[in-house]
Amino acid sequence: MKKAIYLKELNTVQVEALLQREAPLFIPFGTLEPHGRHLPVGTDTLCAEKVAERLSIAFDGVVAPSFEYGLTNVFLQTSPSSFFPVDLYRTFVEHIVKNFYKQGFKKIIIINGHGGNQEALKYILRNITREAPMALTIINWWIYASKFVEEVYNTRPGGHAAVEETAAIMYSRPDLVTKENYISEEDDCVPTDAFWMFPPTGEVLLEEEGQGQPCFDKEKADIYMEKVIKGIENRLKKWFSSFNRLRGGLRP
Ligand SMILES: [Zn+2]
Repeated sequence: MKKAIYLKELNTVQVEALLQREAPLFIPFGTLEPHGRHLPVGTDTLCAEKVAERLSIAFDGVVAPSFEYGLTNVFLQTSPSSFFPVDLYRTFVEHIVKNFYKQGFKKIIIINGHGGNQEALKYILRNITREAPMALTIINWWIYASKFVEEVYNTRPGGHAAVEETAAIMYSRPDLVTKENYISEEDDCVPTDAFWMFPPTGEVLLEEEGQGQPCFDKEKADIYMEKVIKGIENRLKKWFSSFNRLRGGLRP
């Protein structure tokens, strides 16, 4: 099987070759935050990295270093959550993405694994695309992934540290999953507007009681994640081919 190319492992001659062939750049975004007692605190980054890695292979692209520190909100009081002032985060990310563009990467794909980053990333996307004729997308992989939950797991989608993210880690790093730590009665939490509790009573955040709970079946996880990745791949393929319609092409 083809291996992924990681930007940080290349020399400048190799980078120049990537620019010449307009290789797409995949940037994983995550955060550090609790993911129940059964998943690692870097789950969001690990998931985004896996998706980015697979897509980069499919499209002959390259994986940029990850943004591992993100905007954790709900679990901020629990170690080792990370948080930046939002404007600092926006500025930091925007400059790095914009510089990739200025230096020659014209197709940039952000793979986001963390809900708390969404607003800031959307703001950055708008700002950058107003300034430069670049192709930039943000893929919130877990949102797309929710559409396959029912057919593979026979339950409705879960949420945070639930069936989707547990599947992604079971798929990519089953050695980091501690099944015996998960106790549904203690770890599940269904947030409601009736009770705003910080920290929440559990870190497996579900939309509905008893639905979308973590599943530790490796075979199902593989089937599920292959569907998710294939689906994103098809969507990206369509997006890449649509650039031909842009007047003047991609370059300014
Ligand atoms: Zn997560």
